[in-house]
Amino acid sequence: MPAGTILTVQDVTKTYGRYEALKGVSLSVEKGEFVALVGPSGCGKTTLLKQIAGFEDPASGRITIAGKDMAGVPAAKRPTSMVFQKLALFPHMTVAENIGFPLKLRKMAPEKIASRVGEMIALMQLKPEYLSRYPRELSGGEQQRVALARSMVSSPELLLLDEPLSALDVKLKKVLQAELKRLHRSVGVTFVHVTHDLEEAMMLADRICVMRDGRILQLGTPADIYYRPADRFVAGFIGETNLLPVTVLSHDASGIRYRSEDIADDTGAVAASFVADNVVPGEGLMMVRPELLKLLKAGETADCTLEATITEVFGKGGTIQYRARSKQGQDLVIEIPGTSSLPVAIGDQVKLGWAKSDIYVFASAGA
Ligand code: ATP
Repeated sequence: MPAGTILTVQDVTKTYGRYEALKGVSLSVEKGEFVALVGPSGCGKTTLLKQIAGFEDPASGRITIAGKDMAGVPAAKRPTSMVFQKLALFPHMTVAENIGFPLKLRKMAPEKIASRVGEMIALMQLKPEYLSRYPRELSGGEQQRVALARSMVSSPELLLLDEPLSALDVKLKKVLQAELKRLHRSVGVTFVHVTHDLEEAMMLADRICVMRDGRILQLGTPADIYYRPADRFVAGFIGETNLLPVTVLSHDASGIRYRSEDIADDTGAVAASFVADNVVPGEGLMMVRPELLKLLKAGETADCTLEATITEVFGKGGTIQYRARSKQGQDLVIEIPGTSSLPVAIGDQVKLGWAKSDIYVFASAGA
């Protein structure tokens, strides 16, 4: 991956009338990175893309692309290209005309346009005979590929994708997700990709940016976001999880000491690398993902254990999900491979266990 920052967004705000859609957003994206923007509906993902693309102007803050300040630079003059959820292919133009359109606008010679369009068709693995077809003569997935080809034909430095796959059926979506990944690897363009699909974000992105209510809550690798979430909201947004309340007694450079009514733990300590910096003495949350909790067999032990009663059993294909409730009334979710057929049923008392290296403790205050 080529080094260097391609995009910086510094303290950007955006208001629509009195509504603050972006409340001071800052991030930077490295050249060649794939960043996924996720967050609940209305949190400002599309608004952020529009400020970067230049379709709208921020109320305040600064955006630079490839080292240049974008203030006053119109969308057409930015080294960006945006692909929308609802494709904007021109219905009266052929595939070739659609893909070549941005180059025609730049007054490129027709033979050069034809050669570049041919390259794009090959890159998108579309058949050459499609070039003379009209968008209505293509499937949804093929149309989306044409839209992607058009967005990349003028070699943008930054490709902004606003849920380009969300209108497709599940199977086709999977195919195009793999295509996007391949495309990203082969062309080395920087992608900023808005999606509602967390699995898609996990699968495609180098880093995931979680937004809420006009702000960025966390920007990190998929593993960071999943295993070391900044707060309770991020933890719950990215998949189901267990958040066990603990009383933090002290926090220093070595980690925390804690107490819990539910959790049996000989040491009552968690090392610093599994504790968020913002934890202060008082209330905290110990997170353990469902697949990292184990149903202990008789005589088996673990760093931390907890007694609970099974309240629900769900088959999920490859895995079995158990719901359980602790003595203190804490609801838990446990997910184990479907092949490990444990004789556990609703109403059974079980002992759950987990490793200290599989937890993350963060402050319970906040979201
Ligand atoms: P979704 O996931 O549903 O697409 P989003 O995170 O992309 O949501 P945005 O489209 O960025 O959300 O919108 C953020 C907020 O700003 C929303 O509450 C939306 O209603 C509001 N908004 C967006 N565009 C405008 C506009 N042109 N005028 C007024 N309000 C707007």
